[in-house]
Amino acid sequence: MKFDVDVLRYLSKDDFRVLTAVEMGMRNHEIVPTELIDRIASLKHGGTYKVMKNLLKHKLLHHDASKYDGFRLTYLGYDFLAIKTMVNRGVFMAVGRQIGVGKESDIFEVATEDGRVLAIKLHRLGRVSFRAVKSKRDYLKHRSSFNWLYLSRLAALKEFSFMKALEEHGFPVPNAVDCNRHCVVMSLVQGYPLVQVKQLSNVEMVFETIIGLVVRLAEHGLIHCDFNEFNIMIDDDEKVTMIDFPQMVSVSHRNAQMYFDRDVECIFKFFRKRFNILFEGSTDDIDGSEVNIDENGRPCFTSIAKNVGFLDKELAASGFTRKEDEDIKKWVTPGIILQNWFWFS
Ligand code: ADP
Ligand code: MG
Repeated sequence: MKFDVDVLRYLSKDDFRVLTAVEMGMRNHEIVPTELIDRIASLKHGGTYKVMKNLLKHKLLHHDASKYDGFRLTYLGYDFLAIKTMVNRGVFMAVGRQIGVGKESDIFEVATEDGRVLAIKLHRLGRVSFRAVKSKRDYLKHRSSFNWLYLSRLAALKEFSFMKALEEHGFPVPNAVDCNRHCVVMSLVQGYPLVQVKQLSNVEMVFETIIGLVVRLAEHGLIHCDFNEFNIMIDDDEKVTMIDFPQMVSVSHRNAQMYFDRDVECIFKFFRKRFNILFEGSTDDIDGSEVNIDENGRPCFTSIAKNVGFLDKELAASGFTRKEDEDIKKWVTPGIILQNWFWFS
């Protein structure tokens, strides 16, 4: 579904009222019965039905009459609710071009009132086939809170909370500006994903900075779990920024060592292939860390002094709870989400 900002212009107050009613209904229903929407929206003279027709036309709602007559929000509808809320809060004024498409997200440029350009990331966590997630769906079926709105909202909240906490600890991440529903607002990173970079004037330095980040994350109790050339941005001065945090785990995770080694290996592999460099002994000086280096030049996970409390304390303080993390982890298993799942569109 293509996102068309112009639709915002011709959506009325009543349209948003009905959209919000459907969203409220979706807390307890995957498909919200039509009369319930009408009751929640409580527009005069049966106005809800006319509005729903309009929202359906613009694909902000989806109609489903298979069990009973009802509607659900589409991603587009959810996008508009989040964007409208941000615009009302004065976070940004306009939405521009799309700058990134992930399997789990769409990224757009937005502009603030004073002309600054920021980025929004709209999470698309439920964009999976029913079959692929059936076992998880069964597992969660007694939870009224389960649906894709909840999952994408959690992904956004997790990302926002991690970004904020990482920024406060001096990690090079985008500035976390705001978060609503499934939408994270952040600073726009100048530069390109590492995957697009063909040349670097200081390959070794960039490489060491990146490996140093994996180690420093572990020292703070965290593993990125998707640390690769798509989630590392490089600007013209070869400054590194890391992005994309919904799948991060604690160093106390039972597969922590495997995730850590995999993150490290991704970086080694990319630099070997792209820049043709060999690393024997080249990472023995990581950012003042006391990490041991194994015989292949890789930092040893077991040798890192880890502060395991980071995740609990700092993230809980920023609004993301351990329970929510458990919920999202049932869906976002690091490394599985992209490889084994089937995604629509
Ligand atoms: P996904 O979880 O779908 O992989 P990412 O957060 O990795 O989403 O973003 C997808 C792409 O969008 C990135 O590879 C990058 O090109 C672009 N992007 C994401 N965040 C920003 C940002 N703050 N500034 C500039 N580009 C960004
Ligand atoms: Mg990514």
